[in-house]
Amino acid sequence: MTVCYGILPADPGAHIFQVTVAIERPDPLGQRFLLPAWIPGSYMIRDFARNIVRLRALDGSGRQVRVQKTDKHTWRCAALASDQTLTLAYEVYANDLSVRSAHLDTTRGFFNGSSVFLLALGSEHEACWVDIFAPRERRYRSWRLATTLTPASGTQPGHFGRYRARDYDELIDCPVELGRFVVGRFAVQDVEHEITVTGQVPGLDLSRLTQDLARVCATHARLFEPRTRRPPFERYLFLTMAVDEGYGGLEHRRSAALLCRRDDLPHTDMKSATEAYRRFLGLASHEYFHAWNVKRIRPAAFATYDLQRENYTALLWLFEGFTSYYDDLALRRAGLLTPNQYLDTLAATLTTVLQRSGRLKQSLAESSFDAWIKYYRQDENAPNSVVSYYQKGALVAAGLDLLIRDKTAGRRSLDDLMRLLWRRYKSAGTNYRGLRDEELAPALREATGVDLDRTLRTWTRQTQEPDFAQLLPAFGVKVERGPALDSPHFALLGCRLASATDARISQVFDGSPAQVAGLSAGDQVVALDGLRAAGGRLDALLARYRPGDRVQVLAFRRDELLRFDLQLAARPPEKWKLSVDPKAVARARGLRTGWLGPNR
Ligand SMILES: [Zn+2]
Repeated sequence: MTVCYGILPADPGAHIFQVTVAIERPDPLGQRFLLPAWIPGSYMIRDFARNIVRLRALDGSGRQVRVQKTDKHTWRCAALASDQTLTLAYEVYANDLSVRSAHLDTTRGFFNGSSVFLLALGSEHEACWVDIFAPRERRYRSWRLATTLTPASGTQPGHFGRYRARDYDELIDCPVELGRFVVGRFAVQDVEHEITVTGQVPGLDLSRLTQDLARVCATHARLFEPRTRRPPFERYLFLTMAVDEGYGGLEHRRSAALLCRRDDLPHTDMKSATEAYRRFLGLASHEYFHAWNVKRIRPAAFATYDLQRENYTALLWLFEGFTSYYDDLALRRAGLLTPNQYLDTLAATLTTVLQRSGRLKQSLAESSFDAWIKYYRQDENAPNSVVSYYQKGALVAAGLDLLIRDKTAGRRSLDDLMRLLWRRYKSAGTNYRGLRDEELAPALREATGVDLDRTLRTWTRQTQEPDFAQLLPAFGVKVERGPALDSPHFALLGCRLASATDARISQVFDGSPAQVAGLSAGDQVVALDGLRAAGGRLDALLARYRPGDRVQVLAFRRDELLRFDLQLAARPPEKWKLSVDPKAVARARGLRTGWLGPNR
């Protein structure tokens, strides 16, 4: 069965791609086609088939073939003689600016194959062709494309034409950017890397961006391959979309799709890296680390994806959480963060995790398993019911790393586990079975010589967490904790607001004064002790009170004005501060240089 796809940005103004799928020798019993319900890397059922409009099927002579839907994302065509060609033609509505789906307007196009290319069942493992056509109108003449699909002979890389994928899995793992964008290039060893930036970014400092990314990428490659320092692909591509507001990334085996604010990117007047730029580098670092951890080292549940339904694994805390640990740590190792800047990011994660009671109710294994219905579908109660496998997963990685370094006097670290997982579990061939839950603890023991089975179990299968106040001083880190007073409504009432200027309550934290008094998410706070609290005034008013004071809050619930008498928190939630302790550093030097030192 040879499959050939065609995609045309037919009507950018209406967000419409026209797509064709032509197959030779279709299933004689009636060929079936399906579109994935989710995209690997983003664990939520999204039913991409909802954006398919006007689908029809034609035989080799152009006659219409009957086609019927058999479930929400599957189509079945009437049987054809076996020498016939079958072509499906359909439109895809593409108006999602995220990294997960497809987008088309008069300024750019972007698509993941999982949103636009129907799989002809039975052709999963067959190589396929994709003809990517330029939009017809003259005003799109300057559009180019960027992808890691392989150009066919006769197609110049970066230009419209014919591309090839080894199988359907690769086809949907190579997103495509269309439009006008700038391209930066750098190499890691001899492997070519590119970054494209779409969207207007005045004064973009492309050379700084590529230099910094090169250091991050080289840091990850030397972690996994200390000898060759070479990444496991021939070419890598960061596709970046810069917008006014937005943030996100999605990993692929040879590329990453990134969405950021244009202010996150470096400009030529920028002297030292801004916090926003460091966050962008952290995002790129995160997705690049995934090229090893989750795209090649995979949990057993992802050995082969079932794209029609949820794929359950209890290990997302390893694949997302450890990736979150290494994203910032790599910036430190690459010299792009100072030790104190790195410790600030760790302290922020600690503060967020420890302020939320969800961590006492859900284990990391449970959070991973239920990602589809909980982490990815958070409601106003999420802080009280969900623990983030990203953030607590990163804390577990940090805790393990510190314990291993401590117990082996700095001779072993979490890096040794990552290298063992890489050697043993990198995906290869059709019999790949992935990492099973029960294989992790023995691997950790084997890689480090330290028995941490029980610790690992209590941190991931139960709800305990690493004790950083105890772990960090041996590494020359000073640990301070104090009331989180920078956000008075959170500190004193225990709630979050819709925005800085809108005093509508968006979340109420467990056991907080707001919850005890009966305030609820959705309530619109209008007054505090008789003074107007709307329009961003609430924090200014609260700043005049002290922990434990009594206040009266007026709030609208729907259209009813309600009165709440409450006592402000006597002990506001804690905020963590971590910093290098100059006095302890000399003593801890050996351990700290290993942990927070630069690349060696
Ligand atoms: Zn991730």
